[in-house]
Amino acid sequence: MPLDAVPPARPALETYLEEVRAACLGLESGAVADYIPELAKADPSWFGLAIATTDGAVFAVGDCDQPFTIQSVSKPFVYGLALDTLGRAQVMKHVGVEPTGAAFNATLMDEENNRPFNPMVNAGAIAVSALIPGEGYAARRAAMRDLLSRYAGRELAIDETVFHSERDTGERNRTIAAIMRQARMLDGDPDEILDLYFSQCSVTVTCRDLALMAATLANGGVNPRTGVRALSAQSAPDVLTVMNSCGMYNYAGEWSYEVGIPAKSGVSGCIAAVIPGQIGIAAFSPRLDRVGNSVRAIAACKRIAEDFGLHVFKTPPRGESVVRRTLRGDAVRSKRQWSPAQQSALDAYGGEIRILEAQGGLFFASAERLVRAATAARGEASHVILDLRRTAEADAAGAALLARLARDTATGPGSLLFAHVPAGDDWASVRAAAGAARLFADRDSALEACEAAILAAHAAPAPDDPAPLGAAALFRALPAPTLAALDARARRMRFAPGDVIVREGDPADSVLAILSGAASVRLAAGEGGRSVRIAAIGPGGTIGELALLDGGVRSADVVADAPTTCAVLSTDDLRSLMAGDPSLARALTANLARDLAARLRAANREIRALEA
Ligand code: GLN
Repeated sequence: MPLDAVPPARPALETYLEEVRAACLGLESGAVADYIPELAKADPSWFGLAIATTDGAVFAVGDCDQPFTIQSVSKPFVYGLALDTLGRAQVMKHVGVEPTGAAFNATLMDEENNRPFNPMVNAGAIAVSALIPGEGYAARRAAMRDLLSRYAGRELAIDETVFHSERDTGERNRTIAAIMRQARMLDGDPDEILDLYFSQCSVTVTCRDLALMAATLANGGVNPRTGVRALSAQSAPDVLTVMNSCGMYNYAGEWSYEVGIPAKSGVSGCIAAVIPGQIGIAAFSPRLDRVGNSVRAIAACKRIAEDFGLHVFKTPPRGESVVRRTLRGDAVRSKRQWSPAQQSALDAYGGEIRILEAQGGLFFASAERLVRAATAARGEASHVILDLRRTAEADAAGAALLARLARDTATGPGSLLFAHVPAGDDWASVRAAAGAARLFADRDSALEACEAAILAAHAAPAPDDPAPLGAAALFRALPAPTLAALDARARRMRFAPGDVIVREGDPADSVLAILSGAASVRLAAGEGGRSVRIAAIGPGGTIGELALLDGGVRSADVVADAPTTCAVLSTDDLRSLMAGDPSLARALTANLARDLAARLRAANREIRALEA
């Protein structure tokens, strides 16, 4: 079969939903709502399921494209509109947030506060419909329809037949409105308010729409497909909270206990459920239980929540593994090429450096653990680096704790350096508290700074101390006259910052020893002439010593970072000197071998530390 004829694999979540649907299909108890004659026309066998993710993927099975009226599931969305229009305090005057434990169409009111108990029961929803903004019925109706359309990401219509059917048989809701009116809980024309309420219940959606509407709530109010905001980020948690405590009629408490997902159900047989930050779930099948919830939709949601442990309070302890590993500076070195004398000082004292490699999300609990680990490390080592490169999303709580750490460690003994602090406004306080001197773009430069501090503290040659030719590993332990002869042969070359000392691809026909200054080894990376620094070299370091072994071409650029002086010996000169002095040849070969062995040993030590 040609490749393009292979049918695309079905998404795993779709086959999963098929399984859930098959498992719940046998549930045939309950009855289609018939108190609104139009609703009684629904086919009881309809059964659709859909999940939409906060990045806009939709998985849908069964009768997922069957239109139905949204009914009570409109309530949380319209409540959000009221919150965004009037603000929390003002809305609270009209409707509370207390569960009733009574039927959705009960006439029960919160008499103490003279308002309906919550916006998820009819009384509260009617109070909220009264708050739909706009001049006149048509404009307010349009505002409501526009709102629901923004959640769905497409233009939704009102089923006028259902609307009229609701209106003609809405005696119960008229009674509720009359009670509220009498108690002065409702301002305005009750008929218009009820018509708005019946209209919002009659908006037509499919399971796919409803999953996206729920995903919009999961996504902090922004439709994940269109990127259009339907609800402010500030009101989104308020809407979810009320759904969680009151969304499932007088089954809300048990639903919370058993399923534990903010949800709303409607008498057409639909449920919309939200896993905040992750997904929206929609289930639809018209047969209802005694309370008025779809039998199959409840069973399907229960099953999904159970299968994936989605109950909002089923939260595993988070944050243990925030410290990926702790490395010591005697095992892991920066890419700086230190001279032998510096290397032995770092072998002896590098243990004073600790690198804390953080990983995962930085939220309150994980950041707190990281702060604790950093504080403990500061008790053991004089130089601590907090490497945040592998951290994932970092929230405001994580940033606040780390800013506190940065502030508390700005003075006092030892140093705490920060590498890879996340960009973004949340982290501005961390950057400010750390100060430029403690912020490093990467771990290597932070490590090099710690190594330099250790060398300075232990009176080892400091990084920028000029070094004679004999300080280099290649020329060490040569008899004084031999070294003097080499020195006499060497050309002195000076480079300004930015000068290319050695260019990749050029013939490797000389060995350079840095006497003073600083340089870095750079590799071109990607387009646009960008390069990455792979190593740093200072006085006592050499460039191109391997050319003595194999000639060939330069493998990378070496660029001066500061005014730099090098002693340059051509390989021709070195070879002719070696030919005339076999002991020089032996010494250089031995030094090269020893240097390579030391590098290999260091590499192994580092690999062991990294693999541990
Ligand atoms: N329109 C319906 C009513 O008020 C909505 C009820 C519901 O879905 N629970 O009766």
